[in-house]
Amino acid sequence: YAAKTTKARFRRYVVELDDRADEEARLGAEMRAALDAGQFTLVYQPIVSLPDGEIRYVESLVRWGRSSPAVFIPVAERNGLIVELGEWILRTACAQFVAWQAAYGEFAPERISVNVSARQLAEPGFVEVVADTLAGTGMAPGHLIVEVTETAVFGGGVAVRAVEELHELGVNIALDDFGTGHSSLGLLQTVPVDVLKVDKSFVDNLAMAGRHAVIATALIQVTDGLGLTAVAEGVETAEQARSLYELGYRLAQGYHFGRPVPEPAFNGIGVAAG
Ligand code: C2E
Ligand code: MG
Ligand code: MG
Ligand code: MG
Repeated sequence: YAAKTTKARFRRYVVELDDRADEEARLGAEMRAALDAGQFTLVYQPIVSLPDGEIRYVESLVRWGRSSPAVFIPVAERNGLIVELGEWILRTACAQFVAWQAAYGEFAPERISVNVSARQLAEPGFVEVVADTLAGTGMAPGHLIVEVTETAVFGGGVAVRAVEELHELGVNIALDDFGTGHSSLGLLQTVPVDVLKVDKSFVDNLAMAGRHAVIATALIQVTDGLGLTAVAEGVETAEQARSLYELGYRLAQGYHFGRPVPEPAFNGIGVAAG
């Protein structure tokens, strides 16, 4: 009887794996077609200065219909489509940035941030693609921020070499979701970093003056001490913005200041920290 149940369970498990592989293949094929049909778009979320809330940078985030990048980006990483999609994202973001600089002058953002996955960093020729894209769009390297996660550069290797080469080109490197991966502080000794994006989890519950606030305080001391720039992620309330400012944060990003949209309002009028 027990053996029979185990067998049945195993069969169900195999069917489930099959379903998952089918789903993955289907999604992959749809993404391939969507890329050819030009159905991916970018939205841009402001990164603002505190306490005035004026736009300083923007982060580009990819969109594909109603599906979340948290779902389709990992699929694109596994099937390799991220390489081509990533090149499109980089080219589109840089071209948009240059157009904004021409259109908005002093109100245009100073920098644009592009998320880059581990697979892209490991791809031979990635740094050349970035250099060519900058040259092709006429954008100075210092205006670009490449966002990488701790996991992508953990363990060194080609990914870290790519980051070092980008940094040498003059491109800014941001560590995304900082504090949630492995060996967060250790990475600061081995990877050239310009911007620390302090994860939303430390911003949440700041007002409770518990461990979140202690860690957020320690992180701003580390960034200041190392001469890096800190960006607090996921700021949703005026209260969080005020607490962050009091702790010493001067850059923030989150729904309180603006959601990701196709064209943020570059008018020099900010959402104050409150
Ligand atoms: P991320 O790079 O950490 O981007 C921040 C995510 O938090 C975005 O989700 C953004 O919409 C969301 N967010 C911003 N402010 C708030 C807030 O106040 N509250 C809350 N709850 N969320 C906020 P999104 O656009 O769904 O992207 C999710 C993740 O997908 C990104 O996390 C990034 O890891 C990846 N991703 C998005 N676009 C790209 C891309 O162009 N290339 C690559 N390689 N990955 C991307
Ligand atoms: Mg990011
Ligand atoms: Mg982030
Ligand atoms: Mg995040």
